[in-house]
Amino acid sequence: MSNENKSIHEFEVSLICEFFAHLERQGPGSAEITTKALSFIEGLGKEAKIADLGCGTGGQTMVLAQHTPGQITGIDLFPTFIDLFNKNAHQLKLEKRVKGIVGSMDQLPFQHEELDLIWSEGAIYNIGFERGLREWKEFLKPGGYVAVSEASWFTDERPQEIHDFWMDAYPGIDTIPNKMAQMQQAGYVPVASFILPVYCWTDFYSMHYKAQKVFLKNHAGDKAAEDFIANQRHEEKLYNKYKDFYGYAFYIGKKI
Ligand code: SAH
Repeated sequence: MSNENKSIHEFEVSLICEFFAHLERQGPGSAEITTKALSFIEGLGKEAKIADLGCGTGGQTMVLAQHTPGQITGIDLFPTFIDLFNKNAHQLKLEKRVKGIVGSMDQLPFQHEELDLIWSEGAIYNIGFERGLREWKEFLKPGGYVAVSEASWFTDERPQEIHDFWMDAYPGIDTIPNKMAQMQQAGYVPVASFILPVYCWTDFYSMHYKAQKVFLKNHAGDKAAEDFIANQRHEEKLYNKYKDFYGYAFYIGKKI
């Protein structure tokens, strides 16, 4: 397999972490999209307990905190991201309500029915959409919400090249109606779904340009680092070519 066609999972975790730690967000999204998804969720008061799973450095968590009065726990596997997350919370004077801890989304440190809301932007794919929804439900109060963004097909059929790319990267990608059905089957009322606009991706990739330059300078002559960036650029090229066929969609569900 050529390096540019490698899946991101085949690169060293330390390289991935170093690159993404320099970005404000680690996946496509925006403050506007986070608040739009939040607008479908009712009843979050001061006492509300919220978890942001796969929070990264907290780009979306801080937006969430600025628009809800509750307590937010961010969880991410990577300590580097959590350090930056807690620094960001501190800088924004949110540290009393927003705390990042290192942990895994498949071993959550919460009590049965403790949470009012589980948030996860561009991260549930790490354990899979269906599995994540089923396992996380246990930690939500009845009437609690889940809100996740997830790679989705926009059409029933698509060109082979992009189909093959996703079957390798994340075979769990599916159409929006199928994802909605999965959400319902997992025991949630599918409250809303919407597609993230193209600018979320173009902004994300333009953040990459600066980070790529710095990264390549710091790793001059390092083949693995160069391959990693070539892989990122290939992914962007595919997005520009096939953006009519896939992207991220937000899914908001209510546990009953
Ligand atoms: N929500 C952030 C980050 C998305 S990138 C944003 O939208 O910007 C996916 C994140 O999931 C990364 O930060 C990665 O470190 C984290 N992650 C991967 N596997 C995980 C796991 N098992 N448990 C928790 N976080 C995980």
